[in-house]
Amino acid sequence: MNITSTTIAAVSTPRGKGGVAMIRMSGPSALAVASAMFLPRSGKELSSLPARRAVFGTILDSRDEPVDEGIAVCYRAPASFTGEDAAEITCHGGPAATEAVLLSAVAHGASLAGPGEFTRRAFLNGKLSLTEAEAVGRLIDADTAERLALSAGGLSGNVSREIRAVYDGMLSTMTALYAAIDYPEEDVGDEGEREIGSTLSRSLAAVEKLLSTYRTGKAVADGVRTVICGRPNVGKSSLFNRLTGEDSAIVTAEAGTTRDILRETVSFGGVTLRLADTAGLRESGGTVEQIGIGRARREIREAELVLAVFDGSEPLTEEDGELLDLLSSLGPQIPKIAVVNKVDRGTVLTSEELAKIDAAADGRRIPVSAEKEEGISDLSRAVGEIYASGSVDLRRDAVIWDARQRQALEHARSALAAASEAAGRGDPIDCICTLAEEAMAALDETDGRSVDSAIVDEIFKRFCVGK
Ligand code: GDP
Repeated sequence: MNITSTTIAAVSTPRGKGGVAMIRMSGPSALAVASAMFLPRSGKELSSLPARRAVFGTILDSRDEPVDEGIAVCYRAPASFTGEDAAEITCHGGPAATEAVLLSAVAHGASLAGPGEFTRRAFLNGKLSLTEAEAVGRLIDADTAERLALSAGGLSGNVSREIRAVYDGMLSTMTALYAAIDYPEEDVGDEGEREIGSTLSRSLAAVEKLLSTYRTGKAVADGVRTVICGRPNVGKSSLFNRLTGEDSAIVTAEAGTTRDILRETVSFGGVTLRLADTAGLRESGGTVEQIGIGRARREIREAELVLAVFDGSEPLTEEDGELLDLLSSLGPQIPKIAVVNKVDRGTVLTSEELAKIDAAADGRRIPVSAEKEEGISDLSRAVGEIYASGSVDLRRDAVIWDARQRQALEHARSALAAASEAAGRGDPIDCICTLAEEAMAALDETDGRSVDSAIVDEIFKRFCVGK
């Protein structure tokens, strides 16, 4: 069945008690359904009133009994979120009232909407690109200022616009070239070849720039799996508390009391850290302690960022040495920062010890006092530098954050690079055009214009019902 032949309804506000709740419906009979269950105070029929106007009236339940009073707004296709006829009825936000209004919509001819079905229809009706639709989902889920900025930027079309600009630039050059191929008596000439060469290199640069934002975008959107590690008592829990801003990990002077791994998502250094506070890296100890340590090692192996804590007020111990070895074994692809804690006590680390730390932590060493809140902003800057968060304006720049977008853009990049090379070699124009077309198809896919319907299904499944 064509999905737009049905009329769907859902509660679009969160479940539970609230001042008001909103029931949304969309589809060919949305206005008929809304008119049947909503009696405007003016005595006129709802569907006869102008669109996009708030109308006060009585809401009827599934047996046409008055159940609440509220506001209805009608939208006529294509001027609605979904691009279809749509109506929104706002009632009082009690769970029973909300349910009764939803059931009334169903009794009057609507069917229950699936997750993300409104946004999906908006996408299918060309109201939003897939990138923008994904941004809607992210906007709803946003729990930090950075995540909000990223999704607001995506929703305002930053990424879609950038991709369109590259695509359109290529399209006009290609159109001219195809005209020349079709009419070979008009030789494409050097100028035509120069033009395609410069279009290709401009497009390649734009795609590479977009791809370079993935590191930041992903670190904000998905978060960075971060491990705070170090031997007992160096101040891991204190640092964890400093970063989370609440007393969520138990801080104690007793060695090895952080038995299990605590997790918290925080906004730090302009990105999102998913923090795990691990137990010390001790080889021996009681059974509970062993479990903690085993997990800590596993956590470090799976980490995307390691914050290795050392106590600067004491000489390095054998355990610190083990941690340094472990850090070195991770290789440079896993970013790590050595956090030298307790600087308020003064540091006793020798230049030799500091050099060891620098070697293991790829030169990233930040002196802090977790307790006195010193050096935390330096730590934040160091994290920001790793994810380039300072050089990207999440709200204004085109920033990609999604593996699907990245994959499609990588495809576009390799096709563009091959086309560029072919142009440089002076290959026949139609060979270059074939590669350029492949790049354009990949760009289309990035923005969701030609993606597989299974992928579209997967994306909208992640949405909540009512969106
Ligand atoms: P963990 O075992 O590594 O989690 O260490 P804790 O965070 O529990 O800290 C161990 C002890 O060091 C506690 O008594 C903390 O108060 C103390 N401590 C932590 N950070 C600092 C700091 O920056 N300066 C000072 N002077 N003491 C600290």
